[in-house]
Amino acid sequence: MIPNLIGSQWIHPARETLPIYNPATGEVIEHVPLSGAEEVAQAIEAAQEAYQTWSQTSVMERTRLMFRYKELLEQHTEELSRIITLHHGKTLDEARGEVRRGIEVVDFACGAPTLLQGRTLRQVTQGIDQDFYLYPLGVVTGITPFNFPVMIPLWMFPLAVIAGNTFVLKPSERTPLGAIRLAELFLEAGFPPGVLNLVHGAKEAVDALIAHPDVRAVSFVGSAPVARYVYRQAAHQGKRVQAAGGAKNHLIVLPDADLEHATAAILNSAFGNAGERCLAGSVTIAVGSVQEPLLEALRVAAEQLAVGPGIEPGIQIGPLIRAEHRERVLRYVEAGIKEGAQLVLDGRRFLNLPGFFLGPTILDHVTPKMTVGREEGFGPVLSVSRAATLGEALAQANEVAYGNMAVIFTRSGAAARLFRERVEAGMVGINVGVAQPFGFYPFPGWRQSFYGDLHLQGSDGIEFYTRKKVVVTRW
Ligand code: NAD
Repeated sequence: MIPNLIGSQWIHPARETLPIYNPATGEVIEHVPLSGAEEVAQAIEAAQEAYQTWSQTSVMERTRLMFRYKELLEQHTEELSRIITLHHGKTLDEARGEVRRGIEVVDFACGAPTLLQGRTLRQVTQGIDQDFYLYPLGVVTGITPFNFPVMIPLWMFPLAVIAGNTFVLKPSERTPLGAIRLAELFLEAGFPPGVLNLVHGAKEAVDALIAHPDVRAVSFVGSAPVARYVYRQAAHQGKRVQAAGGAKNHLIVLPDADLEHATAAILNSAFGNAGERCLAGSVTIAVGSVQEPLLEALRVAAEQLAVGPGIEPGIQIGPLIRAEHRERVLRYVEAGIKEGAQLVLDGRRFLNLPGFFLGPTILDHVTPKMTVGREEGFGPVLSVSRAATLGEALAQANEVAYGNMAVIFTRSGAAARLFRERVEAGMVGINVGVAQPFGFYPFPGWRQSFYGDLHLQGSDGIEFYTRKKVVVTRW
């Protein structure tokens, strides 16, 4: 069984456990405890105690430790990547990319001496100066999803702790191994015990974290219904909360697009990470004369993608996270066919492999009214829909409830600008299939893809984990 980290102690709670799998083989490789209120209270107590000194530790000392942590993450990139692939399933290259994107946030956190500056205005009125300072909040918590076991925890705790907070992380119970190694390296970098704590579990642990009176802020990333639930619960209890949820992302292709480039980018967007990505482009809207050539190019290229264990070189699509999740994705595809979509490429031919594999699947003639055109599938399923004009394509993209990402492929600056202005999504790609902001920018989902005000990462992250104090002075 894997342990919780409470202060400096790795503790195995006497709790029921769940298996952790290698999704490429279906084998059980570890067990994760389902912690409850008792373990959560211990972690918060350790964090609360550490906060007394950590919040007073100088910015330069905190920054020095963060630089050391960055160095350790760089040194252990390959090891972290292999841990990701082992229990998540994504390809090793995708795992390396994930670690790199996570380290970017640590790079950003190392800028604390600038990021944590307040502002001053002398002589606001006669003889009066006004300053504001940034202060930490106290103990804060992060609850993370299965699909980026290293990157998403790194979106949160480096920014929280560099600002002087202490942190309790509740990783996904399906992929908790990355967080353990992140926490070990954090201690090795020299951060004091209790600055980062780790509690494994599921709903019971999440509810206990949100309800605890000493937790000042909640960061959440996961599915839309749970994001909504966490947002409501935390806000109701007077906590600061940022809750990123699910997505349904559209990739519009105009007739003037570079077809070869668009095809490769769409395949990566739809099928990379086996489609288990909140920035997966799961609907391609083909506009006008590009419809038939694009569909044919996608079908031919997708058919050649290599499906298999992510640890093997040359593999492009790894397994899904669990057998039950694959069943869910299969039911989703079947619902699409029943509702009138046309199956162009059938990924079910990989069902006989050991592990939880599903091959790339393409559905054509999808509309926003269909389940596959409206809801997140979170698997290697690409829906193709058709539109006569850019205006019609925009209307389709804006009809769904989510607003994480939207992409356009075109050679026209005017069309791209119109798209940027009108599309109801917070992350926009122009000739880029996965418009993931770099770690020093916020990660701004819109509509039902995000609940809260300040987003994860970047300057929003720093603002989320700090509070302002204004001082008005006359001498
Ligand atoms: P999930 O919602 O099932 O789980 C996320 C976290 O919430 C986990 O730590 C889990 O233990 C906890 N949890 C699950 N059910 C809960 C409940 N009923 N009450 C309280 N806590 C609960 O999500 P997942 O399947 O792990 O991750 C995939 C989802 O995350 C997808 O919908 C994906 O789009 C989304 N996601 C969003 C972003 C983003 O930035 N918007 C990034 C990555 C993933």
